[in-house]
Amino acid sequence: MSDKDYYKVLGVSRSADTDEIKKAYRKLAMQYHPDRNNGDKKAEQKFKEINEAYETLSDSTKRASYDKFGSAGAGHGFSSANSSHDFSDFSDFFSGIFNEFSGGRRQKKRPMESPGADLKYDLSITLEDAYNGKKHPIEFRSYVRCGDCTGTGGKNGDKNFIECSHCKGSGTMQYQQGFFAVQNTCKYCNGCGYDLKNPCPTCKGTGRVQKDRSISVSIPKGIRSGDKIKIQNEGEAGIRGGMSGSLFVFIEVMGHEFYKRNGNDLECEVPVKFHVAALGGEVEFYNIDKNLIKIQIPEGTQSSAVFRLKQKGMPVVNYSNYGDLYVRIKVEVPTKLTESQKDILKHFAESTQDNSYPSVTGFFSRIRDMFK
Ligand SMILES: [Zn+2]
Ligand SMILES: [Zn+2]
Repeated sequence: MSDKDYYKVLGVSRSADTDEIKKAYRKLAMQYHPDRNNGDKKAEQKFKEINEAYETLSDSTKRASYDKFGSAGAGHGFSSANSSHDFSDFSDFFSGIFNEFSGGRRQKKRPMESPGADLKYDLSITLEDAYNGKKHPIEFRSYVRCGDCTGTGGKNGDKNFIECSHCKGSGTMQYQQGFFAVQNTCKYCNGCGYDLKNPCPTCKGTGRVQKDRSISVSIPKGIRSGDKIKIQNEGEAGIRGGMSGSLFVFIEVMGHEFYKRNGNDLECEVPVKFHVAALGGEVEFYNIDKNLIKIQIPEGTQSSAVFRLKQKGMPVVNYSNYGDLYVRIKVEVPTKLTESQKDILKHFAESTQDNSYPSVTGFFSRIRDMFK
């Protein structure tokens, strides 16, 4: 016990409050800490004095006694166990200060869990499936919770931890890289600094194992390419009971032989016989929902004419309505005609006039005018 003035040692006034004393102490303790002074004896002595002063002045009872009787008097107020100034008495306080100082270098992660990764699954479906919606089975391999240790990673569920032997509990490992020492997270304990005392032999202490899985994905009606379906908790299981990731199913709707999708609408091209287009009549085909559709086309329907059928397109996700179906007519000219059929057509041609073919007549006269 020195006879130094504790207030002078900490560089504070006699009326300094607890915060001022604490602040002054931290500053000096940082400055004179033996770790930072390469074992300098003077610094060590100073450090002891600072601690002595702080221990007295930070305690209101001891401080009152010191103010009254001086350091000798303060000594009477201490129990003998408290009067020895071993550095370890302050180790907790110091680890706090030095973690702040070094940016938390010595802080360790909690030893237990870490969350599992999300998974991505690409799923191609037909346009019919997108139209009808369905439950689609998918199969993949991923981490699941280990059944033998119920995900704890400990043998028979033992959760006792010991210091990681690879990093000596620091959670980090140094590697020499050329001239530089590189500090990395310890790959054996994942930076937590701990290891299981009795790791589960099945999962080697990770709490999870790889397994082939099969789950059923609910595909909503009207889903589009690029849409993704999130299935919570079906991603990778977490380490040692950590939260599972999510499974993201990315949808690609394949092209269709007859139907082209345009948002919620569908388009299709329907070939129509030449005489039906000329005379008008009924055109039949099957819609994507497998129902027979009949449309009446008027006489004189041209190739490329488009008919819109309301609510016959794709279902709109989360709504009860549908897009529209656009039917494009493609007039087919007959081939492989017999001689008598050709004669009929020749007679027919002779009987037509300019106004039977307004496009042809109009086009011819316009282009003729242009080159006159
Ligand atoms: Zn380690
Ligand atoms: Zn296990």
